[in-house]
Amino acid sequence: MSWQAKKPPFVEHKKKILRNSAKVSKFIFQIGEYSALRKPSRKVPLDKLKSADYIKKFKHLKACLLKYRRITGYGRGITAVQIGIPERFSIIYTPEKLIIIINPKIIKKSSKLLIYPEGCMSASPIIAPTIRPAWIDFEYFDEDGKKQFWNTKDDSELNRMMNRVSQHEIDHMDGVINIDKIKNPKDLILESDPDFYSNAKFEEVG
Ligand SMILES: [Zn+2]
Repeated sequence: MSWQAKKPPFVEHKKKILRNSAKVSKFIFQIGEYSALRKPSRKVPLDKLKSADYIKKFKHLKACLLKYRRITGYGRGITAVQIGIPERFSIIYTPEKLIIIINPKIIKKSSKLLIYPEGCMSASPIIAPTIRPAWIDFEYFDEDGKKQFWNTKDDSELNRMMNRVSQHEIDHMDGVINIDKIKNPKDLILESDPDFYSNAKFEEVG
């Protein structure tokens, strides 16, 4: 048999993923094109939460998360800086409702660390296996300016996700992307295998 050119795998799935990345990049800023993504965002002034501007900004961020989910079928959290607003607020998706977290602060973190592959809307379709504390305690303000607390310790499905997503989004507020946290750049991959996420597991880091 003569030499034959080799074809990379998952060609059809990659077409879909890359098409989706192009669509979301119409409203989500990508790494390398918006310097605010790598800088700490400023605090939201709590006395302005009910102003027309903030009502508009919160509504717009929620709409962007829902749009991202309609296009890709996933997406659990989005932070204001990703849509061009360098301020400390995020929207987190839960099956019951969208939760807004404003000016969050981590109070306590677990010393146990877990590694799990994460994507980021601003670095699509890169997947970074990211190490994070197994749980955190954090406080934040809601849309009404009321202080709220969240402990992600209990091991429910919601908390496991909430833990990952809240840490990922709080990092965005500090100008940190998941890819900045990986120890070995060789661990970075592009999303291509359609079964990748269904096989992904939380693993303890020794
Ligand atoms: Zn992200």
